[in-house]
Amino acid sequence: MTKSQEKSIESRDLLIIGSGPAGLSAAIYAARAELKPLLLTGMTLHGQVSATDVIENYPGFPDGIGGSELGQLFQIQAERFGAEIVMDQVTSVNLSKNPFTIETYGKKYQVKALIISTGADHRKLGVPGEQSLTGRGVSYCGTCDGWFFKDKDIVVVGGGDSALEEGLFLTRFANSVTVIHRRDELRAGAILQKRAFDNPKIKFIWDSVVTEIIGEDSVKAVRLKNVKTGDVNVHKTEGVFTFIGHTPNSELFKEHLELDDKGYLAVNKNMETNLPGVYAAGEVADPDFRQVITSAGMGAAAAIQATRYFESLEED
Ligand code: NAP
Repeated sequence: MTKSQEKSIESRDLLIIGSGPAGLSAAIYAARAELKPLLLTGMTLHGQVSATDVIENYPGFPDGIGGSELGQLFQIQAERFGAEIVMDQVTSVNLSKNPFTIETYGKKYQVKALIISTGADHRKLGVPGEQSLTGRGVSYCGTCDGWFFKDKDIVVVGGGDSALEEGLFLTRFANSVTVIHRRDELRAGAILQKRAFDNPKIKFIWDSVVTEIIGEDSVKAVRLKNVKTGDVNVHKTEGVFTFIGHTPNSELFKEHLELDDKGYLAVNKNMETNLPGVYAAGEVADPDFRQVITSAGMGAAAAIQATRYFESLEED
């Protein structure tokens, strides 16, 4: 690397990684505590919330609020109190000594404290055809891609809240939405179940898993296996939307931080990881709740704990 290509180094007290509800809530609290936080957004500005059509269970919005609108409001509020928000992606971290070193594509940061709120990504089916047909009929976001499936017959894979919420959204465009679930009972909450069962465009295929997505340039069908009978059949469809849970974005940190058995960052009730000065909040550290409000609460708690950490350093 030549001198001109060397990354500039910036020292900061508190860095927050990730711009979902956890990261932005942490930024609001940290900015109000005058920690002058810098938040690096990552690739998905405002995280998964930005791809949610309507959020109906975030308190304060009795008629619901659009996900992208809520994300923007979080950001405006954080910036109002002085949080600095930069669009950049962390590529590596070295947490072996404090100050910690955090590298992005263009920069190096040396930070005294860190809040990790890198969220989680959609879990993939891992079947033939999935990768090659992604963007050609295979999708993980109804809000983003639903419009392309106007009057088409599509399938949704999964039986949780996301599958039903997105399936219901997709009925605005699609001719029919067939939910394929591996059991004969849904995991989703009662309200969404009722809405889905009442919607004439939604059908269900139970006890079945997708073993292949069929098509050359676009999706033509899925191969299904009934897990009870072992029967295999081909179901014609032009779109496959998959909502089978998430995997936490903890990969960057696994060398330095403790993970649980599912790969989530391990934190105590104060959002502290195993390293002093390093906190985690939101879906990267939450295998249980994964709600906008719980992520926001974890972010606030992490920032309060970081504030106490800086106070304790001053006392020493
Ligand atoms: P989830 O609750 O983990 O549900 C995942 C679904 O996918 C389950 O039905 C699961 O089947 C199925 N599944 C998992 N792996 C599979 C595989 N390899 N092949 C086929 N099916 C598979 O995930 P989610 O629906 O994304 O929800 C995540 C969290 O966000 C939850 O806490 C949920 O309550 C919350 N959320 C809330 C709302 C809302 O309140 N409006 C909306 C969206 C999400 P099994 O049931 O058999 O395990």
